[in-house]
Amino acid sequence: EPILVAIDGPAGSGKSSVSRAAAEQLGFGILDTGAAYRALAWACREAAVDLDSEDAVSAMLDGWAYAITLRGEQRVQVTLPGGTEAFDVSAVIRTPEISGQVSRVSKHAAVRVRLNNMFRDIVAASGLPGVVIEGRDITTVVAPDAPVRILMTASPEVRAARRAGELDGESLEQVLADITARDAKDAAVVDFLNPAAGVTLIDTSDMNFGQSIQAVIDTVDK
Ligand code: C5P
Repeated sequence: EPILVAIDGPAGSGKSSVSRAAAEQLGFGILDTGAAYRALAWACREAAVDLDSEDAVSAMLDGWAYAITLRGEQRVQVTLPGGTEAFDVSAVIRTPEISGQVSRVSKHAAVRVRLNNMFRDIVAASGLPGVVIEGRDITTVVAPDAPVRILMTASPEVRAARRAGELDGESLEQVLADITARDAKDAAVVDFLNPAAGVTLIDTSDMNFGQSIQAVIDTVDK
């Protein structure tokens, strides 16, 4: 079984880019669990499945095929139920449109149980020495026994500024409003704003990228 480094945090905390860089330094793979929720929202929309229906979204998980690369450039592929073509959804799942819809699929308890099992299977089958796994409930639900567990946060203003830098064309005010709305919906399902017992809190508000990576590496080395 690979060594697990579990990292949770809200949108724009730096968790995705920092986890990726830290994984590379450690020689580990990286599993971005948010990508699966995003790909699921995309697949439901393609198949005209009601995102608010727990049964219909669960049924999508019976019929689809999902694949994600854990090393190198992240590629995410989805095959729709009954289909044969694997769509590369790596870019489309990052659009503000999907960001605005994804909480509608992640709110379903049955969906979370099944995706969490899929994440554990992906890690077990990876053949890697270690995997950094990041999301919202990794330290608490997916891998509560991981030897390293981190909650990465940053102030809402800092998070919005980082996201606005990635999504050009969106105003800072719009990005802040979108992030705040998504966090409120997601935090009603899983608490990723307060560290659980034994989880190391890393606040990146006053850290640059390199310092944030080092803070993760230091926590792993401890
Ligand atoms: O991390 P990212 O912002 O890409 O996550 C997209 C969405 O997926 C979150 O807004 C949340 O609704 C859902 N998510 C989740 N649990 C996780 C990871 C992501 O509910 N472990």
